[in-house]
Amino acid sequence: MNAIRRLCLVLGDQLSFDLACLQGLDAERDRVLLVEVMEEASHVPHHPQKIVLIFSAMRHFAEELRQQGFQVQYVTLDDPQNTGSVPGELQRWQAQTRAEEVHVTECGDWRLEQSMKDCGLPIEWHADSRFLCSRDEFAAWAKDKKQLRMEFFYREMRRKSRLLLNDDGTPVGGAWNFDADNRKALPKGVKAPYPARFSADTITREVIALVKERFASHYGAVDNFDYPVTHAEAQELWAYFLDYALAGFGDYQDAMASNEPFLFHARISAALNIGLLDLRQVCSDVESAYWSGSVPLNAAEGFIRQLIGWREYVRGVYWLKMPEYANGNVFGNSRALPEFYWTADTKMNCMRQAIGQSLEFAYAHHIQRLMVTGNFALLAGIAPSEICEWYLAIYMDAFDWVELPNTLGMVMHADGGYLGSKPYCASGQYIKRMSNYCGDCAYKVTESTADNACPFNSLYWHFLMRHGDVLRGNQRMGMLYKNLDRMTEAKQQALWQRGQMLLAKLDAGEAL
Ligand code: FAD
Ligand code: SF4
Repeated sequence: MNAIRRLCLVLGDQLSFDLACLQGLDAERDRVLLVEVMEEASHVPHHPQKIVLIFSAMRHFAEELRQQGFQVQYVTLDDPQNTGSVPGELQRWQAQTRAEEVHVTECGDWRLEQSMKDCGLPIEWHADSRFLCSRDEFAAWAKDKKQLRMEFFYREMRRKSRLLLNDDGTPVGGAWNFDADNRKALPKGVKAPYPARFSADTITREVIALVKERFASHYGAVDNFDYPVTHAEAQELWAYFLDYALAGFGDYQDAMASNEPFLFHARISAALNIGLLDLRQVCSDVESAYWSGSVPLNAAEGFIRQLIGWREYVRGVYWLKMPEYANGNVFGNSRALPEFYWTADTKMNCMRQAIGQSLEFAYAHHIQRLMVTGNFALLAGIAPSEICEWYLAIYMDAFDWVELPNTLGMVMHADGGYLGSKPYCASGQYIKRMSNYCGDCAYKVTESTADNACPFNSLYWHFLMRHGDVLRGNQRMGMLYKNLDRMTEAKQQALWQRGQMLLAKLDAGEAL
């Protein structure tokens, strides 16, 4: 084999034609390398649909690169020579091609990036320009700040991108944030559109067969895989959302409903995270929809805030704070993750719905993740490492840079409040207000200490009581502690006892 000039590695979440390390490639002298490896597919028990998505999208991307004239080296999972790890494959192909240069774009996972940095190859690293805010830019913004706040970062990103700004630089509508207008429950009779679905082609069917054989022990359904695996399909999914659901996203962003897995959500996160959609284009489409009058401001601003606010913010925090960030455990939690997170076998209807659809579609929307499965893990004192592993495994869109800060920081408050100013703890009342789950539940949301009382209620007060030392000093928790202090001693005792009993059940491996 003739020596080549540049070997350019493209990872499974880097399937963008404008990826930094793909620029300036020479079709004759350079080669693109894509590798399916066991280490990445199994370091946590990823949902089978997530593995299907990544391998199928990689195979389609490799085909498209070949059609554009690139030389592509593609290593399949079942290649007998496959070393099983990304650094192993990089070393193998550098040796075989005698490449003069090895080029890689920044990874989405600290562990993987570190393993490549440690593998002894002189890699030329490229910044991941698919994000609006680079790692360095975020570090400069965060410098000397004791506590970070997403809201202020978001305003910077609005100014930088000039999205939804008036000519004088002020925000359209007179405010930066219309969060308060994003919190309606779903009224009876309002039906959400089912998102566009995509049927499996030959490549995807082959990958499904491979995944069924090699990852049979992983939790989650695989046969109903209907997700986009090419840029063109992802664009269709996106166009469908713009036409049919974005307008409703504004009002119903935080709503939940039984047997409504997607509501008015875009379901684009996985496509965006692996590079099938482009952040800047998505934001500009949303802004255009607003200017054209087809969607209200609370929808356009709310959607753009999630993307250039939260999504960029959590990535910034991740790269600023890793690897120590992953060890955060400010409440000292050690409880094992209950088995029902993997089976949905629980009498709590909200949990059954959120976990059930996660197993079925590798998807739950934000409020289900934050206020149902996440809230329960927070109140029940689950070990952060266990709940983080679950989120990383179960969702199609889960990559370490986005999953870890959302779970460990936003949900579990395990970073001591670095990412968010207070824990998003809530009783069953919040779930009742934002969903129709409680009507079909074996538990009673109006009860706190009775035998059939909603577990979220007593666990919520138990959480506040057991972590008063950490949380009482937090101004934003003041009202909650005032409510607790107003209760009679007997009421507090009863809540504590019920909370203790529920936690003991979890410790004994019983489902609730
Ligand atoms: P929509 O509700 O339609 O929102 C639009 C887009 O905004 C999303 O596609 C996503 O790209 C972005 N977005 C919204 N909120 C966030 C956020 N908090 N962080 C980053 N991006 C955001 N998102 C992931 O992409 N991967 C994850 O692994 C992930 N883990 C999460 C874990 C927990 C505990 C929580 C609370 C949230 C997590 N999120 C994660 C954020 C959010 O839940 C998903 O991005 C969203 O549900 C994806 O569905 P959608 O495309 O229909 O989003
Ligand atoms: Fe969930 Fe409690 Fe409502 Fe049941 S009663 S659905 S457990 S919030």
